[in-house]
Amino acid sequence: AERPYIVGNWKMNGTRAMLAQARSIDRAAQNLMKVEVALAPPFTLIHPVHREAEQIGVGAQDCHPLPDGAHTGDISASMVADAGAKFVILGHSERRQNHGESNALVREKGTAAIDAGLRIILCVGETEETRDDGKAESFVTRQFKASLPETLASPEESLTVAYEPVWAIGTGRTPTVEEIGAMHRAIRATLVELYGEAQGTAVRILYGGSVNAENARELLAADEVGGALVGGASLTAESFLGIVLAAA
Ligand code: 13P
Repeated sequence: AERPYIVGNWKMNGTRAMLAQARSIDRAAQNLMKVEVALAPPFTLIHPVHREAEQIGVGAQDCHPLPDGAHTGDISASMVADAGAKFVILGHSERRQNHGESNALVREKGTAAIDAGLRIILCVGETEETRDDGKAESFVTRQFKASLPETLASPEESLTVAYEPVWAIGTGRTPTVEEIGAMHRAIRATLVELYGEAQGTAVRILYGGSVNAENARELLAADEVGGALVGGASLTAESFLGIVLAAA
C-alpha cells in the first residue's frame, strides 16, 4: 500500500477541552499530505471533531450490530455515520475482554458498519500466553477470518486490519520488528487467500500497541506495516504528530 495511515484511538478519553488537540492535529495534517491521518474519539466527540476536521478522517470506536431499536445505551453504525464518522474500529481487545465480544459479534458489527457506508478497522491480536505457546500466528489468523464480515464487495475500500498484540497495549512493550513482520505477512497471506492478489495486497495492515514518536519509525519499517493504530500517544497533538512525522 502507498500512503501510511496513522489512526489515533482516544478510547475513553476526551471532553470538549480536547478539541484544541484535534484542531492542531488537523492543521498539521494539512501540511503532511503524504500521510493519511485519522482520529477515533469517544462517541460524544465524533461530531465536534468532525466539525473541526478539514483534512483528517473521523471514526468511532465501536457500533451496535443492529440499525436501531430498543437497545438502551447503544449506538448504531448509521448514527455514528450521521455524526460524521467515516470508519469504525471493531474487535478491539478492550471490547473483546471488557464486553465479552465474540468473533461472531464483531463480524455482525462489521456487516452493519459496511451496510451503513462506513469503512472498518478490524483489530486482531494474541495474548502473551498464546505467543509464549508459539501459537500467535495461527490464533490471529483464525480470529481474523472469524471476525471478518462474510462478504466484502470492495475490501480495498472498506477494510483496514490492525494487528494489536494484547500484551503490547498500554504496556510500553512491543514485539520485535521481525515478529511484527511475520504476523503482518501471515495476515497478508490470509487477505490474498480470501480476496485474491489485487484486492488482498491493497488492504492496509496497521500495527498497534505502545507506538510512540520514538519507536514509530522502526515499527513502521517492518514488513507489510501500512501504518499505526495509536492509543496513549494520540492524546496530545505533540506526541501524535511525532508519530505522523515519523511516517512521512
Ligand atoms: P497504546 O498505544 O496506548 O498502547 O494503545 C494501543 C491501542 O489499543 C490502540 O487501539
